[in-house]
Amino acid sequence: MRGVVFDGAGRVRVVDLPDPTVEAPGDAIVRVTRAGICGSDLHLLHGKAPLEVGEPMGHEATGVVETVGPDVRGVREGDRVAVAFNVACGHCWFCEHGQSALCDDDAIFGYGIFGGALPGAQAERLRVPNADVNLLRIPDAVDDDAAVFVGDVLTTGFYAAALADPRPEDAVAVLGCGPVGHCTILGLRATGRPTVYALDRDADRLALAEKAGAIPIDVDRRNAVTALAEATDGRGADVVIDAVGHPEAFEGAIDAVRRGGTVVVVGVYSSETTELQLGAYWARALTLRFAGLTPVLAWWDRAVSSLENGSVDPRPLISHRLPLEDAAEGYALFDRREATKVVLAP
Ligand SMILES: [Zn+2]
Ligand SMILES: [Zn+2]
Repeated sequence: MRGVVFDGAGRVRVVDLPDPTVEAPGDAIVRVTRAGICGSDLHLLHGKAPLEVGEPMGHEATGVVETVGPDVRGVREGDRVAVAFNVACGHCWFCEHGQSALCDDDAIFGYGIFGGALPGAQAERLRVPNADVNLLRIPDAVDDDAAVFVGDVLTTGFYAAALADPRPEDAVAVLGCGPVGHCTILGLRATGRPTVYALDRDADRLALAEKAGAIPIDVDRRNAVTALAEATDGRGADVVIDAVGHPEAFEGAIDAVRRGGTVVVVGVYSSETTELQLGAYWARALTLRFAGLTPVLAWWDRAVSSLENGSVDPRPLISHRLPLEDAAEGYALFDRREATKVVLAP
């Protein structure tokens, strides 16, 4: 089969890979119909995690079950499924408490050794371990372009919205309107229905956020803290969500939240540092919530039912739908911010 592999810093390549087979009784083989390129794939592209040349990439996929191992009960051959980006065991203490991303055996597709040496989702086929828990059947009303968001980005948006836990009268600011920020806006609008401010400097992203029901603020033209203070009688936003994953965004979130407010950190961090003045956080009675990786298994039902009943639609995010063979071009477009979301169709 064909699949995307890391080809050294800044490069990916589509190569011939061995066809996956059932290796454990709980495995399923999925024929991938759509695979997303994620912001975190760009971190890998730029060598921020230890990937070896030739290692497979990709963790966002939807497809059709082609083969199941003898112990698989939850899905059958021919089922359309979403694939959880982080594979969990389904039975440890964390899995049983809705924290599958903190699973004792947590692993991520297409992340090399760091992710447990699983295969990559940007390929024609994918072997999914513990298929009973890590695959979710997709209803007919949800097409492949929508379903590819279920295993990661849209479900992350619902999870982030739940961490923000806003009241309808709250002002919630989302810093960064890439795919995760955008889906967080969708999650917020679908659940608590607060007033949402979308902050970014990219005109395409801001336009998409406005269509999704948020009030756009172009941070190149307006000071974010001032704009949010003006919108809230000088208080600042009740909740600020860092959907960027850069210390500047985190510090901006702290500046923009009101006293007694909540900052939710969804953006991905690894080795970055920032200085905390503990007294300032203490005196302002701030609540900090770090999302970590999304516990997909606890939240993806909500994403699917919202897609099915039409209350959210992430598909306008897809700016480019490319054949798998054009993966390198897809990575380059996304990396240059010329694409809001690239989806590969193997
Ligand atoms: Zn992702
Ligand atoms: Zn587990």
